[in-house]
Amino acid sequence: MTDTSFLPPLIAAIQSEIINNEAEISALDRAIGDGDHVTNLLRGLEAVAKLNDELVQLDWSAALMKIGMTLMSTMGGASGSLLGSMFVSMGKAAKEQELDLNGMTAVYSAGVESIKARGKADIGEKTMLDTLIPVMQSLQSDTEQNADKTTVLSNIKTAATQGMQSTKDMLATKGRASFLGERARGHIDAGARTSQLILCVIADELSKI
Ligand code: ADP
Ligand code: MG
Repeated sequence: MTDTSFLPPLIAAIQSEIINNEAEISALDRAIGDGDHVTNLLRGLEAVAKLNDELVQLDWSAALMKIGMTLMSTMGGASGSLLGSMFVSMGKAAKEQELDLNGMTAVYSAGVESIKARGKADIGEKTMLDTLIPVMQSLQSDTEQNADKTTVLSNIKTAATQGMQSTKDMLATKGRASFLGERARGHIDAGARTSQLILCVIADELSKI
């Protein structure tokens, strides 16, 4: 993995992808949540983008931790504390890792595990984890098979997209949508959608380096 100068253009690409899909994400969270997910995420991303000069001076471990602490203190919502904890855990895991495919998989998996623990949730509960966990499984299996970069990145996008779509017909058992019972069915989870958009941007940006 290249140095952290990769981060500023990546953060900008993520911001513009979320802005381009703002109306749709907002509608998703209005349908089965309280509508603020996209605002929370954009607030967090803006705070992270302000750190650009600082992030490029840091190694991966410190940069990921800084991003996590910033998301925790600025984003708000359930998603803010969950994503914040994901990045702090990824930062801790990155301390002991070379960021090759094996290392990136270990770091990402540590992040997903921390969301599972903090949110007391797992796959199948109509949350961001329905995007994040399939991508973790895809990375783990591609690592075992020593897959090439193009395959890894394309599998990330497929897993994220299928995972996001899988939330549509689920009942929610965690988060605000869990109060709706059957009425939550038929709507994609907003956090699953933003996670998928972000992971697809990351895969596209990684394909350029
Ligand atoms: P809030 O629900 O507090 O308004 P947001 O709207 O920012 O926060 O985020 C909502 C998203 O957070 C949901 O769409 C879902 O993906 C995710 N989420 C909520 N609760 C959990 C949980 N316990 N575990 C994992 N993800 C969760
Ligand atoms: Mg909300």
